[in-house]
Amino acid sequence: MKSTEFPMIIGGREVRSAQPVTVSIPFDGEPFATVFAASADHLERAVSAATQAARVMRDLTRDERSTILRRAHSLLLERKEEFARTISSESGKPLREGRIEVDRAASTLLFSSEEAHRLVGEVVPMDASPAGKGRFAITVREPLGVIAAITPFNFPLNLSVHKIGPALAAGNAVVHKPASATPVSAILLARLFLDAGLPDGALNVVTGSGGVIGDFLVDHPGIQMITFTGSADVGLRIRQRAGMKRVTLELGNNSALIIDADADLDDALARAVPGAYAHSGQVCISVQRIFAHNRVFDEFAGRLAQAARALSIGHPLDEHTAVSSLITETEAVRVEEWVNEAVAAGARRMSGGARSRATLEPVVLTNVPPRTRVFQQEAFGPVAGINSYDSLDQAIAAVNDSPYGLQAGIFTRDLERAFRAAREVHVGGFLINDVPQFRVDQMPYGGVKLSGAGREGPRYAIEEMTEPKLISWRG
Ligand code: NAP
Repeated sequence: MKSTEFPMIIGGREVRSAQPVTVSIPFDGEPFATVFAASADHLERAVSAATQAARVMRDLTRDERSTILRRAHSLLLERKEEFARTISSESGKPLREGRIEVDRAASTLLFSSEEAHRLVGEVVPMDASPAGKGRFAITVREPLGVIAAITPFNFPLNLSVHKIGPALAAGNAVVHKPASATPVSAILLARLFLDAGLPDGALNVVTGSGGVIGDFLVDHPGIQMITFTGSADVGLRIRQRAGMKRVTLELGNNSALIIDADADLDDALARAVPGAYAHSGQVCISVQRIFAHNRVFDEFAGRLAQAARALSIGHPLDEHTAVSSLITETEAVRVEEWVNEAVAAGARRMSGGARSRATLEPVVLTNVPPRTRVFQQEAFGPVAGINSYDSLDQAIAAVNDSPYGLQAGIFTRDLERAFRAAREVHVGGFLINDVPQFRVDQMPYGGVKLSGAGREGPRYAIEEMTEPKLISWRG
């Protein structure tokens, strides 16, 4: 593939710096695109352009904002193949998953355009207090101003849209810092928004090192909110540094799935295979820890190992590929080490584990010691570990034995047991008869514990991205 230049977008214009950076296909290291590392001057220009555009955005009608987002939705579907190939090239995600991501990003744009119409405040019952007699009050939801969006590599388009769509719908302007590994979809998205009629400066994309740009944006007085998706380490650092700025954090997980004794094993297996191995497990809600009732443990583990071995491994742009590389060889080596550590501590490897550069064969482990990193931390790789349990209470305790709490799930035909688990598992979302890796883009999505703070999904994100201002009238 020919390497092509993708300049930053600042104030509606393409901007190059003196520091070109090559973006490569992680599977084989083939150069794919050139982007440009921002200097402090570029970052200052981006915040300044966004500050000016924020005034324009807040004065647009709800319908004007909604129309821009709806046009962006249509354009994205027209350009679906270009975006899908870009996502797959830069992130290493198999092309069929790249196409799904584009469809999802289009739906996130559509939901955002609908939320622009629905953005309302409320009437406040002032005379519910004796002192409020004779007062009438409403709240209006005002945009915050300039929002910095910092996004990860694993869903380079849809997770960007989850921030940009609601931010624009609410009348804010955005400075977007995509992951260094996957900046090209973000730049294509900003170009698409300009074609959709977005005012210059309402969406700026700056590329370069996360530490440098992140600190600049988090510290800058012209930024009112940081919306971050990525690792817990970086999220905590942002939160500690951000002072009075609003911060939402969508962080990691080591997602757990319970397979109860009466579960439909065919169904559970059909959902668990993509749930654990889509995008080589580099999904924040990837199935990582499975707890299977001892009556179904052997059958489920054996069948999952067989299905994992059958997945075709290859180049992300090959139509037949089900599993491709991790984002870097360093990450693949890390996951390999965690698997080896678990095996050395007594886990049994049922399948997978061979590595070629950045690509790791899907791994199934059983009898995983709970204190190993592959169970305690976020693996973010193609690894599922399965342990057995006797009682549901044991399974629930095992699921909760985690610093994270994004989503979890259970397969069972017993409604009472399903809802007992739903009540007692400490997570942001619980899925009955599905894997925790399931998400549709309009649902509230976010975690507890180390998995973050705040919710996404356009209806919920838009609340985080606006301020409810009270207006009271004494008649
Ligand atoms: P990451 O290393 O935390 O990076 C995320 C973003 O933060 C990148 O744009 C990165 O830039 C930037 N960054 C790095 N250092 C920074 C700093 N000091 N200040 C501000 N920004 C900084 O995460 P990743 O490896 O890209 O993504 C994987 C993680 O994201 C996993 O933990 C996964 O669970 C999580 N995730 C969560 C969700 C969710 O919705 N909860 C969804 C997807 C992924 P550079 O790339 O330039 O370093």
